[in-house]
Amino acid sequence: KSVVYWMRMGDLRIKDNRALSLASARAHKLGVPLLVLFILSPQDYIAHDRSKRRIDFTLRNLEKIQRSLAEFHIPLDVWTHPVRRTLPSAVISYLKRMGAKSLFANIEYEVDELRRDISICKLSKADGIQATFSHDKCVIEPGVLTTKQGKVYTVYSPFRRSWEQKLNANPQYWEKATDLQPHATSIHESKLYGPIFSTTIPSSLEGYELSEKEKENMTKFFPAGEDAADQILQRFLTTKARPSQLGAVNPLAPDAKENSKESRVANYGTDRSRVDKDTSSRLSPYLAAGVVSVRECIRATMALKKSFNKAKVDVSKDTGVGVWVQEIAWRDFYVHVLAACPRVSMGQPFLEKYANVVWEDYQEEAEKMEKEAIKARKGQASKPGESVRRWKEGMTGYPIVDAGMRCINEMGWVHNRLRMIVAMFLTKDLMIDWRVGEKYFMENLIDGDLAANNGGWQWSASTGTDAAPYFRIFNPYSQSEKVDPSGDFIRRFVPELASLKGKDIHNPPPHTADKLGYPRPIIQHEEARVRALRRFKNPGEA
Ligand code: FAD
Repeated sequence: KSVVYWMRMGDLRIKDNRALSLASARAHKLGVPLLVLFILSPQDYIAHDRSKRRIDFTLRNLEKIQRSLAEFHIPLDVWTHPVRRTLPSAVISYLKRMGAKSLFANIEYEVDELRRDISICKLSKADGIQATFSHDKCVIEPGVLTTKQGKVYTVYSPFRRSWEQKLNANPQYWEKATDLQPHATSIHESKLYGPIFSTTIPSSLEGYELSEKEKENMTKFFPAGEDAADQILQRFLTTKARPSQLGAVNPLAPDAKENSKESRVANYGTDRSRVDKDTSSRLSPYLAAGVVSVRECIRATMALKKSFNKAKVDVSKDTGVGVWVQEIAWRDFYVHVLAACPRVSMGQPFLEKYANVVWEDYQEEAEKMEKEAIKARKGQASKPGESVRRWKEGMTGYPIVDAGMRCINEMGWVHNRLRMIVAMFLTKDLMIDWRVGEKYFMENLIDGDLAANNGGWQWSASTGTDAAPYFRIFNPYSQSEKVDPSGDFIRRFVPELASLKGKDIHNPPPHTADKLGYPRPIIQHEEARVRALRRFKNPGEA
């Protein structure tokens, strides 16, 4: 009597959505209604450190999706299921209630989600329901690319080469999924499905409420909906003018109406590491939530060329577009790693030899109890937990680190380069377990995504897939000069230093810092570096 598509947190769109497209075709063929289901699962959000911002973004997008689906006479049913263990049986009961013999969904590659879907498969089989799961998150799905020895790639560069070859030999990887079919209007009248049309999407979820101010900011920084995502993508790829009202605003100048001679992607190859300019797409919240399809991103880069049909996907390092597509390959890479090595999503290091590296004792409890004013604190961290708190609050005394952390705290997003700098600072300078930082990012980022976040943290902590060994340790001062040569990014997010000129902004003289109420460095980088090298060289020894 109906077909159900179960939409998840990572595929919040109706265009170019493989599972939805298959579900729609099936419903059309059978001449039965299509229902779209979304389940809010608070226990999963707690277990996976979902941020309030990501939940808010999800709800904002669902509202848009409900409206778009209504145009196709398709209802979106949203309910909350409190106990995640019983979610599979709740879904099966729902399918039975709705008379659905077919369920469609896109695959989520994280361990808990895979286990949940395996149990859905078992239960649905027992009840004669056909469950179909599609690969949709990546350009090339996990498991396809292997080394000559048949193993999964553990280093990015060879992975990227193989990714490029596969992609160009098989255009189906970037083909668009068939559009939705219009569905029978009679569904409105049906007693069973009719009420679903009046489902109201909650404006917040208990425990995940944002303050009014923050909600307003998030809506301004990252507007919801597929149209917004399309505009952000197009603006990045094609436009020279960058009016901020088109969404995903520039963190440096939220109200700027910049003009440039070229599109941002044209300069991406040379400028991408600059954080004091508007250099990257800021599409990550949309890609993480699936508001835009990753295939659409690939096609949009190809459409920049005149001969679209003959065009190959440009993945070269010689063009801005090619370098940007390489970033999309990084996204695929980390999903492939996660799918092949599930231990990384269970808090284990990718490189098992670093399981015993000695981390500083960070004691979250002590951290919570420490409530005195931070500004008064200067010099070395004195208590366990204090260093983590100062890192989180952007009070380490390293301006570029503090600016990066304050940007996350304010916007729920920060440039990739800064993510690397703050992550490396926490794990190498402060020698704090990468899992502390990974969790903090998930709890605060609007684009929090297990594969990319875990990959980024493990890369930075040298427990991951970095081809360079553990002695890659960023110097926060020279990094600062490189990524923020004008100092404008620091000035925007560390306003106490706004009056500093020249190189002082990167490394304020101690007495000036005291006068400005800015803390002295929490640790001396050179000493910290030696400690990190020692501990990584001899895992298990302090
Ligand atoms: P662009 O430079 O425009 O890149 C385009 C897209 O490619 C991004 O939107 C993103 O989807 C993908 N991408 C780019 N770089 C990477 C990368 N290194 N790894 C994986 N995908 C990438 N990204 C997330 O989406 N969610 C996370 O939770 C996340 N956590 C991170 C944690 C750390 C410690 C590090 C170092 C990186 C993390 N990243 C994460 C990757 C990257 O920092 C962001 O995707 C990027 O900053 C988003 O900005 P953008 O959209 O302007 O990127």
